[in-house]
Amino acid sequence: MIYPFPTPEGLRRYPETQGYFPDRSQEGAHPDLDLPCTCTVECEARCAGDCGCEACTMQFHEFADHAGYFHHPDDGQMDVEAANEAYRKGG
Ligand SMILES: [Zn+2]
Ligand SMILES: [Zn+2]
Repeated sequence: MIYPFPTPEGLRRYPETQGYFPDRSQEGAHPDLDLPCTCTVECEARCAGDCGCEACTMQFHEFADHAGYFHHPDDGQMDVEAANEAYRKGG
């Protein structure tokens, strides 16, 4: 499902980038327009993208990457369960 625009909740979660995930390829706070946060108020404080939100999926993957939960960085295999647990606890 494609949501072209961030939800009000997305705007609240990513205020510096107008509700989008920050574009890491640029200096400073630039929105990545391909990754709107489509979270709702029902979402976890640290949503891992379970709701289908592209921004939070990316945020979770970035966390898992930095925290070393990717067993095989080449093929993208991740220890999802462990990463999820750590993510919800706040890393
Ligand atoms: Zn989100
Ligand atoms: Zn969400």
